[in-house]
Amino acid sequence: MTLNTEDAIGVVEARMGDARAELEALVRIPSISASPEHRATVRQSAEATAALLTRSGLENVHLASIDGSHPNVIGEWMHAGPDAPTVLLYAHHDVQPPGLVERWTSDPFEPVERDGRLYGRGSADDKAGAVAHATAVAAWLESEGALPCNVRVLVEGEEEIGSPTLHAFLTERLDELRSDVLVLADAGNWSVGTPGLTYSLRGLASADIALRALDGPVHSGMAGGAVPDPVMGLARVLASLVDEYGDVAIDGLWDDVRPLTPAEAEPIAGFDDTPEAFARAMGTRAGVQLAGDPDVPLHARLWNRPAITVIGIDGHPIAGSSNQIVARAAARLSLRLAPGQDPVRAVAQLRAHVEQRVPWGLELSFRAHGGAPAWETEPTGAAFEAAKRALRAGFGVDPVLMGVGGSIPFVGPFADAFGGIPALLLGPADPRSRIHGEDESLHLDDWRKLIRSEVYLLAELSETASRATR
Ligand SMILES: [Zn+2]
Repeated sequence: MTLNTEDAIGVVEARMGDARAELEALVRIPSISASPEHRATVRQSAEATAALLTRSGLENVHLASIDGSHPNVIGEWMHAGPDAPTVLLYAHHDVQPPGLVERWTSDPFEPVERDGRLYGRGSADDKAGAVAHATAVAAWLESEGALPCNVRVLVEGEEEIGSPTLHAFLTERLDELRSDVLVLADAGNWSVGTPGLTYSLRGLASADIALRALDGPVHSGMAGGAVPDPVMGLARVLASLVDEYGDVAIDGLWDDVRPLTPAEAEPIAGFDDTPEAFARAMGTRAGVQLAGDPDVPLHARLWNRPAITVIGIDGHPIAGSSNQIVARAAARLSLRLAPGQDPVRAVAQLRAHVEQRVPWGLELSFRAHGGAPAWETEPTGAAFEAAKRALRAGFGVDPVLMGVGGSIPFVGPFADAFGGIPALLLGPADPRSRIHGEDESLHLDDWRKLIRSEVYLLAELSETASRATR
């Protein structure tokens, strides 16, 4: 059966108004997976997503969960024949909390368009991904009555809390979800107008360290000079975690950071955004230097090397402080890991480093939190070539093969459960989308181009597979 891709593309263009309305309806449902009081709302979002997938023409659409998890939504269309590949389309329907509502220009759960962008929590991350999958499927079924490949769809309900049950879910439903290629629409574009295809993510590890000197606070005049200050002790430990450039200085942590391959280094060297432009985009204050070895290219620092951040610190707040030595000081550390690094090993290295540097016999407590491994894939092979062609056709511009400094915990479980099948990580966000922040937004025309790309991608993947098996 030959299918006409351009007819399906025509349907995408005609359906964009409907797609936009579908997206707005989903954004109005505050599906905050981190918030226990939004449990019913996350379910409502799952039900709305299921209705959307059913309207797109997918079959066997239903809610599915495991171990009391928030509901995932799955569906499929499996009539392309046994020789056609099966593509799993992933997105998630839960969202981050809105943050500080007063910092939003408009209501986070009432979508509003300004300057070609749709503002609202989940507009980009990742309800746009879910609607993109549904629209691409609907475009094929409406124009051709068929899809070029077998398609399975999984829209997760708890990505924003770190996909705690995804691995168990995928393992339990392996037969129902088994696929040849993954298309994960929860990442983003290089810039507005230029698509991205992500091939590496940093890992994440975190831990709390607390130093205690006293049973309770004591007067700093009566005891200062003799009783050690745990805040100063903590400061000494924290200062030892980075070198003069701000690069991580944890003992042994660099042992398993591998150098860039030529295939990674070459495009990074060619990126034309300078450290100065990056600093401006981040809003760093005048005179502030970027961290990291200045001899290492900016994107290698962001994608391929570890970094450490103090994300919380306890002593005594300045307001209400008095002349006391506090009993205890603590910090929460977040460690980004280079591709190839193991979060368990990294936390063990952090712990050993800290234990050796606690001054004055202060009492240390060290608590590790769950981490996520880094992820990387070789951006070569038939599926990647298909994705590059599809993104070029959808956007009119070649995609940038990119790393991402952040971590997406769901990618690891997929890699484990499906064992090395190609994973194509793309998505609707761009550097201005402020995902997880206030005023999250989606660039509407790039979203249209992403949906066009998905239509091309299904055709490209089917041809690739049939070429490979012939
Ligand atoms: Zn997301």
